Amino acid sequence: MSKDVKYIFVTGGVVSSLGKGLTAAALGTLLENRGLKVALQKFDPYLNVDPGTMSPFQHGEVYVLDDGAETDLDLGHYERFTNTKLTRFNNLTSGQVYQEVLDKERRGDYLGKTVQVIPHVTDEIQNRIRDLAEASGADIVITEIGGTTGDIEGLPFLEAIREFALDVGPRNAAFVHVTFVPFINAAGELKTKPTQQSVAKMREIGLAPNILVCRCEKPINKELRRKMSLFCNVPVEAVIEEKDVDHSIYEVPLMLQRERMDDLVCDHFGLDVPPADMEHWQEIIRKLIAPRNQVRIGVVGKYVELNDAYKSVYESIIHAGIANDCGIEIEKIDAEDIEKEGAETYLKGLAGILVPGGFGERGVEGKILAVQYARENSVPYFGLCLGMQVATIEYARNVLGLEGAHSLEFDPETKHPVIALMDEQFDVTLKGGTMRLGAQDCQIAPETKSAELYGASVISERHRHRFEFNNNYRDQFETAGMVIAGTTTDGKLVELVELKEHPFFIACQYHPEFLSKPSASHPLFRGFIAACHAAMDRRS
Ligand code: GLN
Repeated sequence: MSKDVKYIFVTGGVVSSLGKGLTAAALGTLLENRGLKVALQKFDPYLNVDPGTMSPFQHGEVYVLDDGAETDLDLGHYERFTNTKLTRFNNLTSGQVYQEVLDKERRGDYLGKTVQVIPHVTDEIQNRIRDLAEASGADIVITEIGGTTGDIEGLPFLEAIREFALDVGPRNAAFVHVTFVPFINAAGELKTKPTQQSVAKMREIGLAPNILVCRCEKPINKELRRKMSLFCNVPVEAVIEEKDVDHSIYEVPLMLQRERMDDLVCDHFGLDVPPADMEHWQEIIRKLIAPRNQVRIGVVGKYVELNDAYKSVYESIIHAGIANDCGIEIEKIDAEDIEKEGAETYLKGLAGILVPGGFGERGVEGKILAVQYARENSVPYFGLCLGMQVATIEYARNVLGLEGAHSLEFDPETKHPVIALMDEQFDVTLKGGTMRLGAQDCQIAPETKSAELYGASVISERHRHRFEFNNNYRDQFETAGMVIAGTTTDGKLVELVELKEHPFFIACQYHPEFLSKPSASHPLFRGFIAACHAAMDRRS
């Protein structure tokens, strides 16, 4: 292993949901803009092999990579904030580590030894850090450790990074601890004790942070910085304030730059690199803060009360807003409310309607009603994965007159399974059981709205679904006016549908939300928001 690679380990203290992933990603942005090649990875201490089977209520969105890996949503931040290339090796869970160790044990690789957390589990974890360094050719590898210091299940990971840092030497490893500095209303003060205790907890296991990133609601004054410096044994300039953002998460890299976090890192590693030029990033923020236009978009889902469940969808909408100089207000609408009180109650006056992906029957009828409302009232509609399937079902029922049309996922007895399991899909997939996962090419039909937006005839998009548009109904749909705007390159599976006599009605079987960045919004999202804005203009 080359000793030149530098390693940053990001841990979290006090509480979860502090935005460690965001901090890691934002630091990645700064370092990339200083000309360094950065690789990012996430270690998750839970025992699931991957988050693919976890409910969004437990874990937020499952973020899918090109190679079909179902990963933690922090990897979405990594991709949106940096140019790092991610594969299934960038997200490691305890489940994977133990699976690997137990496979080796069964194969007899340990030659009769007692298999233990130290060194066998910790070695396996360290291997993943080295493997990424080697595979990525990065100058800096940033490893984020999920969970909070003090969690029992996180201990093997912390022990592993301690050993790793010892091996590569103190100038090649840096520890960033993201902590919480709460504001106590009754006292009118920010409190540093939780941070002191969290750092003490780290010291117990032999880890000493080089940089403290303090998440807080109010600015941290000099005195508090000095106090944390003293009690936590970090230089006062390494106490970084990361206040709640005013407008957008995309302010975080600029905030960290103002606090000179990237300078600290480069000094620590002895890297002589130019300062980060963040002009393009500032431009993004300018557009976010003072957009010329404003639209209100409805997202109709079933996990609407949970911000993280549709994270990439919301971010992609915001990116498209930046591209269109359009401020976005996202109205999160529970599909079950639509079932109870009708579509009009919740959807009237919206500039556009989006139905994201999903599994399970709850709320499906509400989503179908939302599609019908959008189609009949010429409100721009964008359907993602399940959002495409419900658009198909709605069209079958209300335009083709196929009563009771449904997806086999929700009604195995339906007379008209317009969404079904197709034999063809098994030729293309079988990576994750019966799930179609990861990036696949899609052939875009000429002279369609989608072709115009993509500006290409073959595109690649990420998938995560089991059911497909049923080809037995394809002719009927096309005769009735639905355009099959995209298929797999062999033409066998429908990927994209649109309606002609509508300001914007596009629905795709894949997940475009995994390929959008603040500086390069996804063409379909961009087109959707442009259409929403145009539709509002027409109405006013
Ligand atoms: N539940 C649907 C399927 O499995 C859609 C999946 C999704 O929206 N990601 O095909």
